[in-house]
Amino acid sequence: MNKIQPIKSILNKALSGADISVNEAVILLTQTDAELIENIRETADILRQKQVGNTVTYVINRNLNFTNICEQHCSFCAFRRDEGENGAFWLDINQIMTKVKDAVEREATEICMQGGLNTKAKKNGTSLAYYLDIINAIKSEYPELHLHAFSPQEIQFIAREDNLSYKQVIIALQNAGVDSLPGTAAEVLDDNIRKIICPEKINSETWLEIVSLAHSLGMFTTSTMLSGHIEKPEQQIAHLAQLRALQKKAIDHQYSARITEFIILPFVGQEAPLPLRRRVNRDQPNLADTLLLTAVSRIFLGNWIKNHQPSWVKLGLKGATEALKWGCNDIGGTLMEEHITSMAGAQGGTFMSVKSLQGAIASLGRPYQQRTTLYS
Ligand code: SF4
Repeated sequence: MNKIQPIKSILNKALSGADISVNEAVILLTQTDAELIENIRETADILRQKQVGNTVTYVINRNLNFTNICEQHCSFCAFRRDEGENGAFWLDINQIMTKVKDAVEREATEICMQGGLNTKAKKNGTSLAYYLDIINAIKSEYPELHLHAFSPQEIQFIAREDNLSYKQVIIALQNAGVDSLPGTAAEVLDDNIRKIICPEKINSETWLEIVSLAHSLGMFTTSTMLSGHIEKPEQQIAHLAQLRALQKKAIDHQYSARITEFIILPFVGQEAPLPLRRRVNRDQPNLADTLLLTAVSRIFLGNWIKNHQPSWVKLGLKGATEALKWGCNDIGGTLMEEHITSMAGAQGGTFMSVKSLQGAIASLGRPYQQRTTLYS
């Protein structure tokens, strides 16, 4: 049998609407032949068309990182600082509200908020009260604004600091006005990898537990993968398989919320801590690798997670536009300011105007449409 036939049968299986297996996804992801890779791209593009149509969406949002003071030391992170260290910041409520007001004036419908794990961020001795204060300030002034805030890692941090259950924390945040959770801190859901790149972070099981709990409580989440560092194709696909199972669980249990989208976040090494940077030996993401992973993610996940988004911050607008031909149907948000990846040396910029996003989509001859955070 020639080498084309097995690939074609996997792609035909996907085109028939069936899920491909973990082994089949690994086979696709390890192809190096240009013609076969083009077949994989075409399949992802056809499935994207079938599953979500031709329109490419974007959201007008503002990223808001309220502090970079963090107790952890992830080996890919150029954002974190110790208190008092050069470059450390911690915004007070007034500074946060100035940024939120500016976002609303620029027609943002969403604030995406995450921060470092700052043990001093407390009110009356509790971490949760500090977070609730920020939410209350934003929501009392702008109740319509969608608050997409606090990763599963931050949920665990608050719970640990205050000796609460994850459920108590999620419900309290939800009642105060958090509308959905970013599915960040997933990195790669493989504990051997996590021990190297984020040894102090929650393990895979806890990440999955918190996200599933959020779904069961009616809180939508996104999902992400930090790609292109020390992980192998098998670990990337195992990560996708866990996301697919998580989404199936939300559907099977008829949870009122689930995963809204999948985003690949390729590692930017330029300013990252030296040990991992040296090991990866690449400052900027490898676009070809990211595009193939993008296509395989659409093929593997698309029946379950329909919205796929590239990161223009990490790939640049040109790279993100190219990813729209490899299975993506959303180009992300305007962000207005970005710290985490730009401090790592990303060259994509920190702000994208609506016009630039629309122009990039239109350059492919595809229609564009503004969306809400939950794709309604
Ligand atoms: S990735 Fe997040 S948790 Fe890890 S060091 Fe950076 S800010 Fe802290």
